[in-house]
Amino acid sequence: MQRQNMIKQSNQHFDILVIGGGITGAGIARDAVYRGLNVALVEMQDLAYGTSSRSSKLVHGGLRYLEKFEFSLVFEAVSERRILMNIAPHLVNPLGFLFPVYKSSRRGVFTVNLGMWLYDGLSLFRSPKIHRNLSKKDVKKEEPLLLQSNLKGAPLYYDCSTDDSRLTLETALDAVNHGAVVCTYTKVTEYLRDDNGKLCGVRVVDQITGEQREIKSNVIVNATGPWSDKTRLLGEEGGDQRLRPTKGIHIVVDAKRLAVNNAVVCFHPKDGRVLFAIPWGDRTYIGTTDTDFQGDPGEVAATKEDVTYLLEASNSYFPECQLTPEDVIATWAGVRPLISEEDSEDESSVSREHDVRVRLDGLITIAGGKLTTYRRMAAEVVGEAIGWLRLTNRLPEIRKRGETDIEPLPGAVGWPEDDDHQKIAQQIRERAGSAISEESALLLANSYGMSGLDIADLVVKDASLGQVLVKGRPEIVAQVTYAVEKELAVTIRDALIRRTQIFFRNEEQGLHCVEKVADVMGVLLDWSDERRSQEISAYKEEVDRSRRWRED
Ligand SMILES: Cc1cc2nc3c(=O)[nH]c(=O)nc-3n(C[C@H](O)[C@H](O)[C@H](O)COP(=O)(O)OP(=O)(O)OC[C@H]3O[C@@H](n4cnc5c(N)ncnc54)[C@H](O)[C@@H]3O)c2cc1C
Repeated sequence: MQRQNMIKQSNQHFDILVIGGGITGAGIARDAVYRGLNVALVEMQDLAYGTSSRSSKLVHGGLRYLEKFEFSLVFEAVSERRILMNIAPHLVNPLGFLFPVYKSSRRGVFTVNLGMWLYDGLSLFRSPKIHRNLSKKDVKKEEPLLLQSNLKGAPLYYDCSTDDSRLTLETALDAVNHGAVVCTYTKVTEYLRDDNGKLCGVRVVDQITGEQREIKSNVIVNATGPWSDKTRLLGEEGGDQRLRPTKGIHIVVDAKRLAVNNAVVCFHPKDGRVLFAIPWGDRTYIGTTDTDFQGDPGEVAATKEDVTYLLEASNSYFPECQLTPEDVIATWAGVRPLISEEDSEDESSVSREHDVRVRLDGLITIAGGKLTTYRRMAAEVVGEAIGWLRLTNRLPEIRKRGETDIEPLPGAVGWPEDDDHQKIAQQIRERAGSAISEESALLLANSYGMSGLDIADLVVKDASLGQVLVKGRPEIVAQVTYAVEKELAVTIRDALIRRTQIFFRNEEQGLHCVEKVADVMGVLLDWSDERRSQEISAYKEEVDRSRRWRED
């Protein structure tokens, strides 16, 4: 499964072409191919390059929608949460959320508890676990670092955490396994039209070679998230903007400086906005901000003001820790593709619901939504695409239902019923012997599910691939090889930011292993010396961008 093969296969006439390789586009490609359509997906960078690798990494119902009485939104999301736990159990894991209630809190313990019952009820009591109320004493045991003064108690409820990049990647790879053609680093620059003015394909530019080519398709879907206005208006002057994008950033700190056992729900002391401190193995991340954003979503980055805002919230809830900018290991910033609502007063009140529109020339645009509900949105979009194909007499024979809700993602095939990650880690160790440490084996089980065994096989063939990429960390060289051979990775950024998360988790953000990664990828992808140094520079630039806030 390499990019070159995908590009060769894109030289055919497709039923449906999806623009955008975020979770929305990947979900649409998977749904469409499951329905029996001939599918292509093009992504201008890497899979999950956009918002889908920059979220809060939660698969959740959105407790705060209860406050706005948006019950259907919550119901939809908690139902999807259950489905994702079933089809991607290695990637979607239950996480406790502690909701501390203080004397000064807007809602008392009773009201919050009532909300929790409603939340559990909307999931038909199939939450990962039913919530419980913790007394002040229990809270201290559960979260020793949390501010205790004036604390009244705290419900502990359950949602899920995930790895957004890998969820997107596995969704796209599953589409490929079922016959979809997925071309990364392939940017759509123009729409092609037939004699009646209807869309019949796109012109793309290969972002690696600079070559241009055409891809023909009977229907085209614009699933470009925060770029969706730009993509919809491609080739037009002006035009109406349907998005009101907002920026959200996260900061990552060492769990030795701020350890939490659950995601702790905080309200910012200045403006009362909700944010979370979320446990992430040996790290904790805090987020998110929510501010209007204009500009290129590819250039979005944290500012000093954003970081200060998050540190203020953290220091008021975890006063003993007193985090400073020096504690921040990494940041990430993303743009929410929110649908504009003329009457909304502030950014946080903009609805997260999605919107699907079919243009007269056949372009279908999906905007908005959440990572959690991608599968449902995808099914809706494919329904519209099928409608268009039927209308234009080009609908091939298809299946009634895609069954994307019951078919496991690739890493979940063979995953144990009891969801025991340790058991799979043990199998990985048994396969590779001492060439893979216990810590690395667990990382492979957690990140790749059963495909972790394929990585172990690489190490069996070549023990040097079992070496860690960064001293003291669990990520191993074989992950880079696997990323290139099986996961469509073609740049160092793909490998270190989205296939592994070294960029976010390592103090040096991977700068100490970038040469090693360049060596491995260079051999596999036949890089010239020039390409190799370009790749290293591009990675370093990305690290610089994420650290630019320090210079503000
Ligand atoms: C800070 C933050 C926190 C969030 N937290 C959560 C959360 O915890 N849980 C949750 O459920 N949701 C969350 N969300 C929302 C969720 O992340 C997004 O709704 C989702 O990732 C959007 O996915 P997408 O595929 O629509 O867009 P994207 O992931 O941005 O994908 C669009 C893709 O289109 C590509 N593209 C653009 N133009 C072109 C072109 N011309 N040719 C080819 N490709 C192109 C881009 O490169 C990009 O990869 C969060 C969002 C943000 C910003």
